[in-house]
Amino acid sequence: MLRALIRPDQIFYCFADCGVCEGYCPVARQEPTFSPRRIVMAAAQGNLTALLSGDDIWRCRSCGRCSYHCPAAVDFLSLIRELREQALALKTEAVARQGATSKDGIKGDGREAA
Ligand code: SF4
Ligand code: SF4
Repeated sequence: MLRALIRPDQIFYCFADCGVCEGYCPVARQEPTFSPRRIVMAAAQGNLTALLSGDDIWRCRSCGRCSYHCPAAVDFLSLIRELREQALALKTEAVARQGATSKDGIKGDGREAA
């Protein structure tokens, strides 16, 4: 499912050190350890354990700026929703830690607001 969301030609840009998404991401600007590019690369490589058990997939505010400016048209919002759905299904510790209640975000803190 995740691989269907990221085509090989899109991931080429990520591995070519693109990073445009990081420059536009409001979370990455505030939290240097957060990177939509690294999330896309990890998902494309199938490195899901750390992604699903970590907090990064819940830090995204779903503003869509990364996808809007992505030269490879990566659909980051669909990717992050799929990752959240899988984390919710697994009931990971990060889900409990973040108080996550749906794939669209975290109830009550406005993270889904653009
Ligand atoms: S802007 Fe798009 S192609 Fe570039 S690193 Fe981010 S997700 Fe990859
Ligand atoms: S959708 Fe998420 S990862 Fe993309 S720019 Fe907005 S906050 Fe950053």
